[in-house]
Amino acid sequence: MKLASRIALIKPSPTLTIQAKANALKASGRDIIGFGAGEPDFDTPLNIKEAAIRAIHAGFTKYTPVGGTDELKDAVIAKLQRDNQLTYRRSEIVISCGAKHSLFNVAQVLFEEGDEVLIPSPYWVSYPDIVYLTGAKPVVIRTRVGDGFKLQPSQLEAAITPRTRAIIISYPSNPAGVCYSRRELEELAAVILRKGIMIISDDIYEKIIYDDQPFFTLASLSDELKRVSIVINGVSKSYSMTGWRIGYAAGSEEIVSAMTKYQSQNTSNPTSIAQKAAVEALNGPQEGVGVMAREFQKRRDLIVERLTAIPGVTCLKPQGAFYVFPDVGSYYERGDRFEICPHKVIRNSAEMATYLLDEANVALVPGGDFGHDDHIRISYATSMEQIEKGVERIRLALLKLKY
Ligand SMILES: *Cc1c(COP(=O)(O)O)cnc(C)c1O
Repeated sequence: MKLASRIALIKPSPTLTIQAKANALKASGRDIIGFGAGEPDFDTPLNIKEAAIRAIHAGFTKYTPVGGTDELKDAVIAKLQRDNQLTYRRSEIVISCGAKHSLFNVAQVLFEEGDEVLIPSPYWVSYPDIVYLTGAKPVVIRTRVGDGFKLQPSQLEAAITPRTRAIIISYPSNPAGVCYSRRELEELAAVILRKGIMIISDDIYEKIIYDDQPFFTLASLSDELKRVSIVINGVSKSYSMTGWRIGYAAGSEEIVSAMTKYQSQNTSNPTSIAQKAAVEALNGPQEGVGVMAREFQKRRDLIVERLTAIPGVTCLKPQGAFYVFPDVGSYYERGDRFEICPHKVIRNSAEMATYLLDEANVALVPGGDFGHDDHIRISYATSMEQIEKGVERIRLALLKLKY
């Protein structure tokens, strides 16, 4: 069978693949610790579930407008005003089947062959593939650990060519938990505005942010920035609603109506009852969000402490999201240096992830999938007990390589 060449451009989401593999091993009876998850381990709050159940009983089970109900658009508008001091009209909002869907759709309506799209690394695994599927070229800007994995204005400037259309930026970031201060964003914004490129801001981890840091989406810094920005967000991470598939985009009417047209020929509307649940998530009590973020912060403190206590492992302290991205490269064999471990040779992050799964029964994602092969990504969306146990297993498995 001949498949379209476009499908060969992309790979299956590595995070979802690891998760599936870990689940299969667990089901077969292996005692696997799952550090692969890209979702909070908390249950969706009851008030949100009840809103969906009410919607079912009320018969709210039919097609809705393609770009989402006015009720949900208004809840999104109120959220963007309340949290981000951004003012949008209904015609500037589109609801989609998750933030990933919004990112996909915005890329489809903006980019094509010949275009370049900037992606700072370490990046979320899906950005390059979302860009590839438009025919455009993802251009990765490699940030440095020494800069806290933060994109520097000079790096941004150097990466922009006449073909550059946009930058996809996300903070707090997945996988490294990097967050930018207002000052740092203003410096990046100056380059963006001078060069005339667009901003796609993936704000999905906005609410999972630590140490009382404020969050600023680029669009909120000035009207000029708002005009060149598409703000992407959703309910998956903030409200533990990954399975409900509701995300949204806010931007100019021209872009949003193109996205809505595109959506009308593929998914049509996002699920009606999930839209009702999302209205409750955004308009209902918000205390749960902070409770969850504080719990994640405790776990971050524990996991960073334990990981950095392992000889040869270094790790930046995440400022948000629920992942750590430690450097385990000192355990790789490089070139002609094969003295580390006589019985096992690990040359890259994929081999490291396989080794840790086989040897330590710990599932995690290779850093290479995020653009930094010396690293591995560990999700701490799991209990303190699992974190302690899992990191101890990693420690023992790594020490076995060296001694
Ligand atoms: C989880 C995640 C998303 C996807 O969110 P959905 O709304 O569930 O599609 C988008 N961006 C990043 C960086 C993520 O980690």
